[in-house]
Amino acid sequence: MSVAYNGCNSESPLNLKDLVLSHAQVDSIVAHAVDGLPNEVCGLLAGKKNHVFDVVFDVILDLVLDVIPVKNLKPSPVGYLMDPSEQIKAIRMMRNKGLSQVGIYHSHLVSSALPSAKDLELAYYPDSAYVIISLAGSHPELKAFEINKGLVKERPIIVS
Ligand SMILES: [Zn+2]
Repeated sequence: MSVAYNGCNSESPLNLKDLVLSHAQVDSIVAHAVDGLPNEVCGLLAGKKNHVFDVVFDVILDLVLDVIPVKNLKPSPVGYLMDPSEQIKAIRMMRNKGLSQVGIYHSHLVSSALPSAKDLELAYYPDSAYVIISLAGSHPELKAFEINKGLVKERPIIVS
């Protein structure tokens, strides 16, 4: 399935790190979102933060290594509530593997892949990429954002 995403060619401020995902990871996020219909789904992205990809060119990225679906405690087509106990369990598992919470994802079913007012309100992790998969269009759309105190900046995504 072809997924539209904001790739490395899109204009983005240089200070925002690329978020790197594999095609298989994108596919599994899409599959999770489709699976959860008619409600939104949510999950975590585990990986390496500030991963030095290229020393010479000073390329530092956030690398996703694992997609972890998390239970949505409040199933709804227009919102989600990540189960905090599952989230804590997942974060513990990441630490045991030497990984960090690189991102948090959820699906949008009727709107585009842009954070809603509610998403901004519930964004407690300025260090994590907020990834939204939208199934509203003819193709799934994946976008990533940094959300810091209600301020939203789009982060570039590289799918490799
Ligand atoms: Zn949302």
